[in-house]
Amino acid sequence: MDPATRHDLRRALLEHAPWLAEDDVGPRAVEAGRCAACEQLPRLLPTCGPSGGAGVCRGCAETLGEDGWCAGHQEEGALARAWAAQLPDRWPELVVLWWVATGELRPDPSLVPDPDDLPAPVAAALRQLPG
Ligand SMILES: [Zn+2]
Ligand SMILES: [Zn+2]
Repeated sequence: MDPATRHDLRRALLEHAPWLAEDDVGPRAVEAGRCAACEQLPRLLPTCGPSGGAGVCRGCAETLGEDGWCAGHQEEGALARAWAAQLPDRWPELVVLWWVATGELRPDPSLVPDPDDLPAPVAAALRQLPG
């Protein structure tokens, strides 16, 4: 995907889901990839507890609870879990699209959702993707 297309997609995503731009939580706070615990959903929250320092998805963060964060970061962990809890249920799609838009993930038809299901500006940007 050329940089201009990625830029359009990033802007469309941010208009629809401003939460993607957070620094300490969300797709910018973790390395692009699947959850370190379930290996199914994308990573959403960085963890630092006894369970290891990798990023986990929303459900796994909830399951880990306080164990996901070290003693010094319990407050951050609780805030991160509360933040994740209020995201729309389609957060995994939006997180994957964000990584496509930033160039961290290559567009993969199996990961990129059906544009018809997405808000018009995001769908329009997606339709410019190759393939
Ligand atoms: Zn998970
Ligand atoms: Zn910590």
